[in-house]
Amino acid sequence: MKRIKTYLQPEYVIERLKDRCNKCKICVRECTYNVHIYNPKRDEILSRDEYCVNCQRCVVFCPTKAIRVRKNPNTYRENYHWTEEVIRSIKQQAETGRILLTGMGCDKPHLTYWDRLLLNASQVTNPSIDPLREPIEIRTYLGKKSEHVNINYKDGGDISLETELAPQLRLETPILFAAMSFGAVNLNVHRALARAAAEYGTYFNTGEGGLHPSLYKYSDHIIIQVASGRFGVNAEYLNKGAAIEIKIGQGAKPGIGGHLPGEKVREEIAKLRMIPVGTDALSPAPHHDIYSIEDLKQLVHALKEATDYTKPVAVKIAAVHNSAAIASGIVRADADIIVLDGVRGSTGAAPKVIRDNVGIPIELALASVDKRLRDEGIRNEVSIIVSGGIRSSADVVKAIALGADAVYIGTAALVAMGCTLCQRCYTGRCPWGIATTDPEISKRIDPDVASARLKNLLQAWSMEIKEILGGMGMNAIESLRGNRLQLRAVGLNDAELKVLGVKAAGE
Ligand code: SF4
Ligand code: SF4
Repeated sequence: MKRIKTYLQPEYVIERLKDRCNKCKICVRECTYNVHIYNPKRDEILSRDEYCVNCQRCVVFCPTKAIRVRKNPNTYRENYHWTEEVIRSIKQQAETGRILLTGMGCDKPHLTYWDRLLLNASQVTNPSIDPLREPIEIRTYLGKKSEHVNINYKDGGDISLETELAPQLRLETPILFAAMSFGAVNLNVHRALARAAAEYGTYFNTGEGGLHPSLYKYSDHIIIQVASGRFGVNAEYLNKGAAIEIKIGQGAKPGIGGHLPGEKVREEIAKLRMIPVGTDALSPAPHHDIYSIEDLKQLVHALKEATDYTKPVAVKIAAVHNSAAIASGIVRADADIIVLDGVRGSTGAAPKVIRDNVGIPIELALASVDKRLRDEGIRNEVSIIVSGGIRSSADVVKAIALGADAVYIGTAALVAMGCTLCQRCYTGRCPWGIATTDPEISKRIDPDVASARLKNLLQAWSMEIKEILGGMGMNAIESLRGNRLQLRAVGLNDAELKVLGVKAAGE
């Protein structure tokens, strides 16, 4: 077959300011996509625009700030229906005959409901609280809650708890780090996440690739994931975390399995996943032993049995059309925590068509799950964690008001470490040293620096959460959970208001 010439135009163009460039070649070294090349014959730095993904690595590291990356002004003649992206995708597929892969979360203009929800604040009555002067409690416990507790009152005034409480996770802030597997990201990233979680008093999730022994010291702050591929799952692994999460689905690719390409499966990753070096790590779409709630219940109990009933078990699902009914089943399968991952949830690699078109916004899924569990009188039998595009402390507060107990952050954590959402995680050449297992590129993440950035983010958001709570006159985050009276909506239709259970602004 004849070689097909590409008709694709570069998406971005590089401008190098000649009067500033001192030919230090830092951009040549820093670009993992080989955009910048040095021509020794002409003593010149050249750009190959067609490889540029606008990751901004060269821009940040250029010592003289000589580089500008711009959107290519030579766009296709797009229109409302045939956008630049649609035309580009068709051309790409006509040239390769392949499924288009992408990384990170859905970037389509589906409504972000967080931005249509506004929070309340105290005025005159129920006065606001100043968080700098008065304590505001944001500590959160995740796990089954007892409807009531029996207390033994002893002579002399001592008391003891008679009711046996289910195992709980204790978080100093209602934010956890979302699952990212060793393989999708490298060990330096896991080190940074684990350390930040331990030092701030929250949790990091292993993802489906197992846990490196050097991280065992953080066990009290680790959530162990069990996914359909069962990579790295054995009794030792299960007991190295504070909780276990069964991953049924994820928001970026509901209904399909995972694929870690063989080139990313280096020695240590292969060892942990218990597969040969260089082989593709394929997680099947379904768990081959789960076809019903009864099957799920068996796995929940098998994991509890393997860990002596000392750890909460979470079940993670993608937010889809019937999430509320599924969540109800998950509670009846004796899970302690439900994780709902919305359509904006991120991934290292997913077919673009799935990422952008399958699933529902997390705000709607959360509201309907919380309502269903309340209506059935089983809300306290489970905690809810939501994930999928949480971008700020305001999103966290709104999620809790809609019924969540806590949130996972994934993309926000990566952005804190350097990620610029270039969406090329699936190439394994992450310029910021995150979504790569290449030993040289991985060195770009210094676990000390990255964990400090993560802790700063947690601290900043936690302080903002306290400010918002104080403004609402609340001194404990527990008072906000599912308290939709603290929310008002702007510009939503009646059906959306009904699902969210929120009044329109002004009502
Ligand atoms: S990093 Fe900046 S100064 Fe150095 S060669 Fe590249 S463009 Fe020139
Ligand atoms: S993790 Fe790396 S490759 Fe993925 S979007 Fe962020 S910067 Fe790009």
